[in-house]
Amino acid sequence: MKIVQDILVPGGFARSFEAKKGQKIKVIDVEGKQVSDFMAFNKDDLKEKLSTPHSYMSALSLHIEQGYILRTNLRRPMFEVLESTAYSHDMILPACDEQRYRVDYGIKEPHRNCVDNFEEAFEPYHLTRENFANPFNIFQKTRITEDHQIIQEEGDSNAGDYLLLECLMDVVAAVSACPMDINPIGGNKISDIRIQVLE
Ligand SMILES: [Zn+2]
Repeated sequence: MKIVQDILVPGGFARSFEAKKGQKIKVIDVEGKQVSDFMAFNKDDLKEKLSTPHSYMSALSLHIEQGYILRTNLRRPMFEVLESTAYSHDMILPACDEQRYRVDYGIKEPHRNCVDNFEEAFEPYHLTRENFANPFNIFQKTRITEDHQIIQEEGDSNAGDYLLLECLMDVVAAVSACPMDINPIGGNKISDIRIQVLE
C-alpha cells in the first residue's frame, strides 16, 4: 500500500484529514497506551457521522475485531475494520471536555481536552460540538463488570500498535491524542499518534 498522507498528531492535540472511499486509515500508537478519540463525517453530507451506538447495536458487540463494521447515525456502513493489533478500544465513553477536568477532578485552570481539540481540528469544516457524536476511543480500555460497573483501565496497546480501517465512503475525520493525564487510561503520560492514509 502507498502512503498518501502521513500526519503526526502531537500528544494532547488533534488533527483533521480527509480520506476517500476505498482508502485505508491507519491509526498508530507511537509510544503505546495513548487514547485516540476518533470522529468522522460523511464528506458529502456532514450531518451524517460515525456513531458508536448505531455500530454496536448492529454488531451486537463492543469488541473491535477484523470485519467489524462501524456505522453512521443513519446506520450506513462507514468503515470496515481490517486489522487491530491492540485488543482494547472503547465505544461507550464521551470525549473529555473542560467540565470533565473541572467538575470531576476539581481542576480550576483550563485543561486541554478532546472536545476543544476537535473544534480546533474541524474548524475548516465549520463543525462544532453541537455537530459531534460520541467519539470512537481507539486504544482506550473500558471494562464492564458482571454487576454492570464501568471500569477504566490503562490501555493494553504497545508502541507501534495500530488500527487499520477501510473507508466505505468519502470522509472528513479527526483524531485527538487525548490530553487526559489524571486517571490511568493513557498510562499516566500523553504521547503522539501517527495517522496514515493508504491506498
Ligand atoms: Zn480526551
